[in-house]
Amino acid sequence: MSVVAIVGRPNVGKSTLFNRICRRRHALVDDFPGVTRDRLSAPVEYEGRRFILMDTGGYLSGDATTFAEQTRRQVLLALDEADAIIFLADAKAGLHPGDEELVHLLRRSQKPVFYAVNKVDGREQEVHAAEFFGLGLDRIYSVSAAHGYGVRELLDDVVASL
Ligand code: GDP
Ligand code: MG
Repeated sequence: MSVVAIVGRPNVGKSTLFNRICRRRHALVDDFPGVTRDRLSAPVEYEGRRFILMDTGGYLSGDATTFAEQTRRQVLLALDEADAIIFLADAKAGLHPGDEELVHLLRRSQKPVFYAVNKVDGREQEVHAAEFFGLGLDRIYSVSAAHGYGVRELLDDVVASL
């Protein structure tokens, strides 16, 4: 089954989006073969399409590293294991150098990557989301994982790529 991974810096709302798409209150502990333990995954059925959604951001055991390095490693693992990637950033925090670094990594991938800016709960955040256009991405999805805004539009394109 296809795997879709959600990646991004800590606190951008990955787990909130994961739970919204899975319609579960809590991310499930992973029990799918081939998907490692420090990431959580759950089966999703959306518009008749089935895939496994993977949340990332748990601490990777191994060398003690910074948050930035942990996040970078999560992205590399997701690029390895997933068929499509959702990159999430935070409109409330605005564009962060860490986002640029991750986008740089993801752009080298042959796999479909969907760039989304979360926490777009109102017009003020739409303005912040616009900062991300400077990265030169073709398409940026504005979403609110907490309220559900924009999530369908994003998912429609994700499942179409699988
Ligand atoms: P993660 O570290 O990327 O998994 O982020 P979490 O899902 O744990 O969310 C981090 C914080 O952002 C939590 O306090 C969430 O409630 C909050 N959050 C997530 N999505 C939204 C959103 O759409 N709008 C707002 N305002 N807050 C959000
Ligand atoms: Mg999380």
